[in-house]
Amino acid sequence: MKEGEAMAYNDRIETIRKDEFPMLHDSIYLDHAGTTLYPKTLVDSFATEMVASLLGNPHSASASSQYTTLRIENIRHRVLRFFNADPAEYELVFVANATAGIKLVSDAFRGFPEGFDYRYHQACHTSLVGVRQEAENGLCLDSDDVDKWIEGGDLEVKIDPSSRPTLFAYPAQSNMDGRRYPLRWCHQVRRAGVNTGCQIYTLLDAAAYVATSPLDLSNAETAPDFAVVSFYKIFGFPDLGGLIVKRNTASVFKQRRYFGGGTVDMVVCLKEQWHASKTQSLHEALEDGTLPIHSILALDLALNAHQKLLTEFEKLATLKLFHVRTGGVCNPGGVAAALGLEPWEMKRNFSTGFRCGNENDIINGKPTGVIRVSLGAMSTLSDVEKFVAFIEEFYKEDHQPSPVALPESVVEDDSSDLFVDAIMCGQKG
Ligand SMILES: *Cc1c(COP(=O)(O)O)cnc(C)c1O
Repeated sequence: MKEGEAMAYNDRIETIRKDEFPMLHDSIYLDHAGTTLYPKTLVDSFATEMVASLLGNPHSASASSQYTTLRIENIRHRVLRFFNADPAEYELVFVANATAGIKLVSDAFRGFPEGFDYRYHQACHTSLVGVRQEAENGLCLDSDDVDKWIEGGDLEVKIDPSSRPTLFAYPAQSNMDGRRYPLRWCHQVRRAGVNTGCQIYTLLDAAAYVATSPLDLSNAETAPDFAVVSFYKIFGFPDLGGLIVKRNTASVFKQRRYFGGGTVDMVVCLKEQWHASKTQSLHEALEDGTLPIHSILALDLALNAHQKLLTEFEKLATLKLFHVRTGGVCNPGGVAAALGLEPWEMKRNFSTGFRCGNENDIINGKPTGVIRVSLGAMSTLSDVEKFVAFIEEFYKEDHQPSPVALPESVVEDDSSDLFVDAIMCGQKG
């Protein structure tokens, strides 16, 4: 961007920011990967809708209940279209957050009588790593292992084709450093399974990816079987997540054992224990309890606000995708790989009292986490400049390479306690 353009761009964002994101005041908010900010227009339109509409619980027969049901079904379709997903090919299940979507998939697989094998990428968020607790075998892979698997090579733990299904999970984008992983893996890994007679399913964690890029599920053949998102990461509000399931793999959820209010047609308790699960649609069978109806309606309004601001933030597309890495951000494999932390060091840190989320950032001269800086649609160039100036003032040492240089290896020099490892940029598309 040329200087003049950059100034004009900055001024335009500043104007929108004053009107739409008054909560910012003078803060420099750089944790959009944690959650982005909701615009004032969205909150205002939500208040208007809540006051104007009579919304019943969708599980009843009254007119207000029917109205809610109809709205929710329309929103389901609208959200699928937002991801270019044909409702004939996919179902959207509303969940509390991406983690709850992952847990539903995990619940289905643990229901297989012979269990399941689990393979997950090292860049996985903690919520994906936890699925290994339910599996017969869990194996953590790096990108080279995934490529080897796709090419038909053997990995440390072999799959026994005859016995049980395999679930492969990875993030479309790391929540730690913004690095992207190939969407083609879903298709390729599944095909490798077909070639070797293994039933392989793919779970794509798109929570970080969709916050910066549109997810395109138009090709159902190459798409993941399951994808999870957190809507608050895209729109700032509502606090809601989604599990997108390809209809042709929906039958795995028949294995899920739990049922709750809303997901069964009939339950017998006395003398005999029998129930009939809902089977008409997948979401009916999986959405236990009352739906977060107000949040789902807010999602409709969030889509409206998003469409409007995207027009306005057009120019931002490239900048919006820009992540500056610096947090032990619920990403154990990624942090260990980036910082060269060995399992024994992590266990030692644990035994000396280190826990996820506490304040010990350096133990025995090695960093235990990274600081992640992430930008959103309403970030300005001056946010970035101010952050760089802050790093220069407090962390730059003159004998070190400049703070944004990319050191090859991260932990060899014990004296460099904090450093910027990489700036990740992505393009829309
Ligand atoms: C945020 C995030 C999650 C967890 O999302 P929740 O909404 O907290 O469940 C999982 N994976 C990635 C890549 C994320 O960015």
